[in-house]
Amino acid sequence: MNGYTGPGVVLRFGELFLKGKNRYLFEDILERNVRWAVAQRDDVVVHRKHGRMFVLGADDERLMHRLGEVFGIASCSPAVFCDKTLEAMTQTAVKMAQARASRAKTFRISARRSDKGFAKTSGDLNRIVGAAVVQATGLRVDLESHDLEIGIEVGLDWAFVWSSGQPGPGGLPVGVSGRGLLLLSGGIDSPVAGHLMQKRGLALSAVYFHSFPYTGDGARDKVVRLATVLAQRQKELPLFVVPFARIQELLRDHAEAKYLVLLYRRAMMRIAGAIAHQRGIHTLITGESLGQVASQTLANLAAIEDAADLPILRPLIGYDKAEAIALAKKIGTYDISIAPHDDCCSLFVPKHPETRAKLKYIRAAEAAIDWGSHIEEAIEQAQMVQP
Ligand code: ATP
Ligand code: MG
Repeated sequence: MNGYTGPGVVLRFGELFLKGKNRYLFEDILERNVRWAVAQRDDVVVHRKHGRMFVLGADDERLMHRLGEVFGIASCSPAVFCDKTLEAMTQTAVKMAQARASRAKTFRISARRSDKGFAKTSGDLNRIVGAAVVQATGLRVDLESHDLEIGIEVGLDWAFVWSSGQPGPGGLPVGVSGRGLLLLSGGIDSPVAGHLMQKRGLALSAVYFHSFPYTGDGARDKVVRLATVLAQRQKELPLFVVPFARIQELLRDHAEAKYLVLLYRRAMMRIAGAIAHQRGIHTLITGESLGQVASQTLANLAAIEDAADLPILRPLIGYDKAEAIALAKKIGTYDISIAPHDDCCSLFVPKHPETRAKLKYIRAAEAAIDWGSHIEEAIEQAQMVQP
């Protein structure tokens, strides 16, 4: 900090109930993520001290937008750092109020003094700076309901003035909850599911089952583009592309058509589970939503889960399609998802697949198949793409 004066952004973080060790972990990872998020900007530095976090050097819209993508931030306010004197703080607050006065009628000053050695109390600051703002702008003070809030903070190592900012995305910093393996298809739901789990602090790896030549390069490129969008919120997002056509052909040739979707999904679970184990990942994530399609009835979800040896997180389980679409639009995956693509799960599948699979029949169908080393080969031949 060392006497820095100029523009910056004050970050406030949520989930304040976190205590002790968890709190430090939260803050360490948040700091790392903020540093990574602004790494392209050589005009700013990230500063963390006394449980506060700042970005110093700029407060422009692009920077605010970027910070708006960092999970764990509850809100961001543009701020101006100034000398720790009453004159400097008053002048800075007046300037800030003047810049915003045309869009406001009422305001309040919210001063906070954590440096108890500073001669003025927060009450003094509220009154003195408030009076100066009234005089300079003609705005009226209203403590309860105001159009503009101007904050003043006097700390041991800094003094700054901020004004009402933007809400952050909330959630937990990506990485505090560990890592999950997202089953990422080209559809609308799975990228949204990945986003929601990033929001709860999971870093993602992703796996895509590619049935080349039945599903073409376009389908694969689409998934890579979706992964690229999700990768804006975490440092690295490895995507494993698994060749799936041989397994689908095997199932087509040796199982009843009405069970195919479920058998595909069970094979996906096994392969995804093996990749997860290899990488020290302890959970799978899908975009499934209860009852949305035939393969997502409760019975069928259970039949899929039966083949997985890791917990499956399904953050969209209670979402309507319309809600998933709205979120997909907001995070920027929708336009990519709606481009037409081949879907491996509809390959060789009849119009009316089984909706209430009895587990014992599914298991029996699976057991009757000579799998050879198909599953192992698919795992071995998975290609890692770094979007
Ligand atoms: P999405 O929009 O995510 O494709 P969906 O509503 O179309 O979901 P399904 O096609 O039944 O539903 O797929 C359910 C879930 O299974 C997906 O959300 C995804 O997590 C996973 N999945 C399906 N196909 C693939 C695939 N080819 N590769 C990876 N995961 C897949
Ligand atoms: Mg799909």
